[in-house]
Amino acid sequence: MLMTPGPTRIPQRVRQAMAREIQNPDLDPDFAKLYEKLEEKLQEVYGTKNDVLILGGEGILGIEASIASMMNQGDKVLCISNGIFGDGFADFVKMYKGEPTLCSVPYGQELDLEIVESAMEEDFKLATIVHCETPTGVLNDITPILKTLKERGVITIVDAVSSLGGCHVPVEYIDVCIGGSQKCFSSAPGLTTVSISETAWKVIENKEQNTYYTSFKPWKDTWYGRREFPYTHLVSNIYGLDEAINMLLEEGLGNVYSRHKECAKLCRDLGRNMGLELYPSQERLSSPTVTAFELEGRAREIPVMLNKRYGILLGTSLGSLKNDVLRVGHMGANAHEHLVKETMSAAKRCL
Ligand SMILES: *Cc1c(COP(=O)(O)O)cnc(C)c1O
Repeated sequence: MLMTPGPTRIPQRVRQAMAREIQNPDLDPDFAKLYEKLEEKLQEVYGTKNDVLILGGEGILGIEASIASMMNQGDKVLCISNGIFGDGFADFVKMYKGEPTLCSVPYGQELDLEIVESAMEEDFKLATIVHCETPTGVLNDITPILKTLKERGVITIVDAVSSLGGCHVPVEYIDVCIGGSQKCFSSAPGLTTVSISETAWKVIENKEQNTYYTSFKPWKDTWYGRREFPYTHLVSNIYGLDEAINMLLEEGLGNVYSRHKECAKLCRDLGRNMGLELYPSQERLSSPTVTAFELEGRAREIPVMLNKRYGILLGTSLGSLKNDVLRVGHMGANAHEHLVKETMSAAKRCL
């Protein structure tokens, strides 16, 4: 029983959709129709009229491509961070020879608008920010920061891989918003979804293209121009994502968000009842999609026992937190009361 914060469990309907016989994605007009509809459904999930690209690759591809597609050598990028994924953006900026300014607070702490504002005394072309920092379980309140960035004309890139489809994401303030198939969408790992504003398209088109697979630019003349794909698309993954999005829209986004909130609350209440402490301790910072518990030095041992005895897999954390933080991923198809209850009661017995 997969209760990790991604990849999540994959519902049977999605798995069956992936098992269908494939169409030729480049030659079959019916595939193009399915794909166009899927793009429209994704716009509904994103709450935007912006184009939503689906790239053949894991969420990291969307992150790398956002830098590779928009940043020139020497460009200044403000990387706002309170976690591993936030810091990771700065690494991509360096890799592509840009100049990152890391504007960060310690992991698990709240982002601070004032610190961001003082960093903005310099001029930046782009800014990056993570909505849900999955390794710490923190959902960042990004709207005030995004508003400020937009007022200054900075292009905003948001990693919403582990929040999109589980709670509201303020896409209206985001130029490039990155989602992933294996988190709240609960389809197989392998696709990343990226919404691109008009402003972002202009930046992409004006940049000299020096990569292919990690660039959004080829999509402009291929799919958005001639209705061809820049490469053979991951057909079976597309079928899976399409069915996953159908399920989401059938349930209704409002209901899906409430289900996540309720599961998060249940998970935290059950955790507290067995003496666990939240990480970070302020519940208002915690994401509706993942709960992190502090288990000093024991965060590796508990999931091993849980898996061996009950066949339930939980996440630990990454980097310096890996021995101290245990995470329950109640996102997507994992976000059901009975699954959270079963997980937490098994965890209790292990503890
Ligand atoms: C999962 C995730 C990604 C994608 O990276 P993985 O290789 O799947 O870990 C990117 N950003 C965030 C915030 C994520 O949670």
